Amino acid sequence: MRYLILSDIHANVTALDTVLAATEGQWQKAICLGDIVGYGPDPNQAVDRIRSLDAITIRGNHDKAIAGLTEAEDFNPIAKTAVLWSREQLTRDNLEYLAQLRQGPVFVDGFCIVHGSISDEDEYVFVAPQALEELRIAPAPLTFFGHTHRQGGFMQRGNGLGVINFDPSHRNLIWSLPIEEGVTYFLNPGSVGQPRDGDPRAAYVIADTDARKVEYWRVAYDIASVQSRMIDAPPPEPLIMRLAVGR
Ligand code: ZN
Repeated sequence: MRYLILSDIHANVTALDTVLAATEGQWQKAICLGDIVGYGPDPNQAVDRIRSLDAITIRGNHDKAIAGLTEAEDFNPIAKTAVLWSREQLTRDNLEYLAQLRQGPVFVDGFCIVHGSISDEDEYVFVAPQALEELRIAPAPLTFFGHTHRQGGFMQRGNGLGVINFDPSHRNLIWSLPIEEGVTYFLNPGSVGQPRDGDPRAAYVIADTDARKVEYWRVAYDIASVQSRMIDAPPPEPLIMRLAVGR
C-alpha cells in the first residue's frame, strides 16, 4: 500500500491542493499528522479537503487549541492571534471535527504516527538526544512525526544514529529511503503549508509498505496567492513573510 503522509498544513489550501494534484494516482490512502489549521488563511477549505480525502488523521497542537480543547496559553502572541482568528472562521461542523480528532500515537499498517513526540503531542523533536529517546521507546520500527516543520528525521542501526536533513537545492523527489530490517526510523514528512527548514516548497512523503521505502518529496506552489489572502485576513505580517523564506 502507498500512503500519502501530510503534516502541518496550517490552513494553506493552495499548498495542499498543489500536493494533491502532484500526487494524483500515486497513493491509496492519505494520512495527516495534525495541524490542519492555524496561521494560514483557509481553515475551512483545509479541513474540508482532509475530510473529503477520508484521511487517517491525528490532531496537532493548533487543531486542539482552535477547537477550544486547550486555551493556547503556551502559544506566542502571533500564534495565539491566529488561533482566535481561525476559531472565528471555522464552521461549527469543522470545529466539531477538529475536537474529535484522535491523539497520537496511532498505529497504521505496522507503523506509528504522532504529531510531536511519542509521549507528548506538544513536544518538538529537533535534536539527536531527543530522537534517541524516541527511537528507544518507539512502539514500532517506523514512526512518522511532525510539529517541527522540518523534513527529514532520524534512524538508528545498533548504536549508530543517522540524522536526515536535506539541502533546498534538491529536485522534487528528494530521496527514496529504503526501510531495512533491524533499523528504527523516526521520520518527518515536513510541513505542507508552512515549511521552516529553509525550503519554501510544500513538503510531504509517500510511504510504500510493499516496496519498503519512504519517498521524500517537495513541490513548489503559488506562495504569492496565499500571501495575498493573508493580507486580506488578519494573520500578522511575520507569518506572511515566513512562507516565502521557509523558516
Ligand atoms: Zn505545526
